[in-house]
Amino acid sequence: MHRLLLFVLSAALTVSLAGCGTAAAPIASGSSESSSSGAAASGSAGASSAADSASSSDSSGSQSASSEQTPSFDPSSVNWVDWTGTVEHLFFHPVVAYPELAFDGDNMSNGIDDWMVTVDEYDKILQSVYDKGYVLVDINRVWHETTDASGNPVMVRSELKIPEGKKPLIFSFDDVNYYPYMIKDGFTYKLIVGDNGQIWSWGKDPQGKEVISQDLDAVTILDKFVREHPDFSPYGDKGCLSLTGYEGILGYRTMTEKEDQSAAHEANRQKEIAAVKPVIAALKAEGWTFGSHTWGHINLSTHSLAAVQADTKKWFDEVGSLVGPTDILFYPHGARPDGDDVNKTGPIFKYLQSQGFRVFCSVGIESYSKIKTDICAVICDRLHPDGTTLRHQRDRYLKFYDAKDIMDVSVRPQRDIDWK
Ligand SMILES: [Zn+2]
Repeated sequence: MHRLLLFVLSAALTVSLAGCGTAAAPIASGSSESSSSGAAASGSAGASSAADSASSSDSSGSQSASSEQTPSFDPSSVNWVDWTGTVEHLFFHPVVAYPELAFDGDNMSNGIDDWMVTVDEYDKILQSVYDKGYVLVDINRVWHETTDASGNPVMVRSELKIPEGKKPLIFSFDDVNYYPYMIKDGFTYKLIVGDNGQIWSWGKDPQGKEVISQDLDAVTILDKFVREHPDFSPYGDKGCLSLTGYEGILGYRTMTEKEDQSAAHEANRQKEIAAVKPVIAALKAEGWTFGSHTWGHINLSTHSLAAVQADTKKWFDEVGSLVGPTDILFYPHGARPDGDDVNKTGPIFKYLQSQGFRVFCSVGIESYSKIKTDICAVICDRLHPDGTTLRHQRDRYLKFYDAKDIMDVSVRPQRDIDWK
């Protein structure tokens, strides 16, 4: 029965993808049947046994070298200056760990090509933004709530100090859920905690062999990059993880299912909840924060207020209860509440704001932001490093990287590239 839900969601995503060129969206799967079965296996792997494996993997060498000689960042070694300009904001979907699975010509290949970057491309993007003088700041550091002269709540820009000569950059990561229909297509399966307290990914390589790594997942790669380049994160900030709830979070199947209210499902759910808690704690300790991407990845421009209310309640019950309070909402598909959040403040926007959200993130062609004056909220657009912009928007991203240096043309589908 759960497959039906997936299918409905997938169908909705397909429609939205087709209709909205710049929208943020996970990959829509036309064939949902094979997807549910792939998920079940990972859920029962359990954090503790996986963590044991992580420690053995650790001692075998991939990570131990860097921990012996960890560079450090001394805040007193730099001159801190106020930053009042634009704070750039890039967002990523999960990165492709195995291009040979992602781009195998099945019905997911072009969607992955459109919306994702590969591990190799992601590595190069991190190095490039670092080389260009960007430093990471968490989105929660940029605006805060206060009251105006009349006593009304308003959002304002926060004082933001950064090392002189550097430029602040927000990272966010959408759909960090490890959806069953994605993981079989070349992605990692879940995040786990190793004995050293660091985050690792767990998954399977194309041959079906278990792999525990820090080199295959957007989260662990960034953690590792900051360990090696601590001045990239002067506050220790990483990024904001944008989570739905309908397939659980972070690779753990913590969701309820309307179609399966059995005791067995609930028992497994509680096991998954227990298993994800240390992962959440470790992520927070590493400087990661969390935001809502709605429970069901719903389109906020087309759903009714009642549907948005029910979805939001579910997100708080099943995701917010685990990750804690958040001010941040990332629109699924980039779709703006009530169809427009820039020029109007409609009933859905007002409802979401009343639930505690203050920073509302869409997707766009620049790191636009606007503090709304009729309600205590900020709206902002994010840029999106992915196949679409690597192929077709090289100029717009030159301040961060040159697509010519980044894009791995050899592993991606042979499709149009503007700059070739
Ligand atoms: Zn999404």
